[in-house]
Amino acid sequence: MGFLSVLSFAHAIVRDRVRPGDIAVDATMGNGHDTLFLAGLAGDGGHVYAFDIQETALANTAERLASSGIPSSRYTLLLSDHAEMAQRLPAAAVGGVAAVMFNLGYLPGADHSVITRTPSTLRALDAALAVLRPGGAATVVVYPGHAGGADEAAAVEAWAAALDPSRYQAMVYRFVNQRNAPPYVIAVEKRKSSFIIHTSNKGERNDV
Ligand code: SAH
Repeated sequence: MGFLSVLSFAHAIVRDRVRPGDIAVDATMGNGHDTLFLAGLAGDGGHVYAFDIQETALANTAERLASSGIPSSRYTLLLSDHAEMAQRLPAAAVGGVAAVMFNLGYLPGADHSVITRTPSTLRALDAALAVLRPGGAATVVVYPGHAGGADEAAAVEAWAAALDPSRYQAMVYRFVNQRNAPPYVIAVEKRKSSFIIHTSNKGERNDV
């Protein structure tokens, strides 16, 4: 099998977890590619909540969904900071979300000065973990190539690395020999049940 691209890897994690009838979140709508992907997985009985702070993103996404024949009952496009995610979702959805996708950086084709910023990104990531159901996952495509992007990527990685391993599994999917600071994926799964890390008397960790 060839190595999956960064975007395909994020999609594979999500495709594995979102079933018809599920609720999913696109935390960075942009041009709506991930919103459309999630709406396809969630199906008629499911729902996608999508966030962006730019009207252009909502307009582009609405057009993409409509031209793909996705009924408007399947999605809600929110002109809102994703840091407000937990407050903006219906209370019944909190703790029941199958997947949250982030695609950081700027909206291609729009104002490149409107970018995701570390403080709100980190708040949104905490909110994403709060809204996920057990077994659900958050994917974050980070872009170290633009100004501020490397610091944001490093902050997201540090955030993921500090998560309690008894409650979350966190990983990085990254090509290490590509040039020009290519994007990479940070993914977190909320464990189905927390577990105890057993330390044997040999000091080996056995965490399955
Ligand atoms: N870099 C990707 C696209 C990222 S789009 C690519 O090249 O394909 C990122 C989107 O996040 C933009 O549309 C931007 O408006 C949005 N955004 C920025 N800050 C945000 C915030 N605090 N809450 C929600 N969306 C935000």
